[in-house]
Amino acid sequence: MIKPEAVAAGHAGKIIDMIIDNGFRVVAIKLTRLSRQEAGIFYEVHKERPFYGELVDYMASGPIYAAILEKDNAVEDFRKLIGATDPSQADEGTIRKRFAESKAKNAVHGSDSNDNAEIESNFFFSGRERF
Ligand code: ADP
Ligand code: MG
Repeated sequence: MIKPEAVAAGHAGKIIDMIIDNGFRVVAIKLTRLSRQEAGIFYEVHKERPFYGELVDYMASGPIYAAILEKDNAVEDFRKLIGATDPSQADEGTIRKRFAESKAKNAVHGSDSNDNAEIESNFFFSGRERF
C-alpha cells in the first residue's frame, strides 16, 4: 500500500516509479479507501499494540493505493526497498527515507511474509483485477 499521507502529498507516482525501477512487476493496482472497520481487520495482528487505534484511524483517513507486486524474493526485497519502519532509521535510497513523515506516517506498507502477501492480496483484489 501507498499510505494516505503519501497519496495526499502527491508522492504516489514517484513511489510507483521507484518500485518499477527496482525490478518489481505490477500485477494489480488501484486507488481505494479503507473504512475504519476494514483498516482494523487489515491490521488485526497489531490490535494489542498501543498504537493500534491511531494506526486504524490514520489508514482510514484518506485514499490509498493498493498493489500486488511480483519479483523473485519479492517480500524480502520490497522490505529492503521500503526501509525501516522509523524513517530516521531507514537507509539512504529507501522509499521511507525519501517520503515518510514519521514512524506512524511512513508512506508505504509491505507484506512481511509470503503467506501474508497472499492474504493481503486477496483482501484487495479479485482474480479479474490481476494481470
Ligand atoms: P512495518 O510497516 O515496517 O512492517 P509494523 O508492522 O511494526 O511496521 O507496524 C505497522 C505500522 O504501524 C507501521 O508501518 C506504522 O505505520 C505503524 N506503527 C508502528 N510502530 C508505531 C509506533 N510506535 N507508533 C505509531 N505507529 C506505529
Ligand atoms: Mg509489518
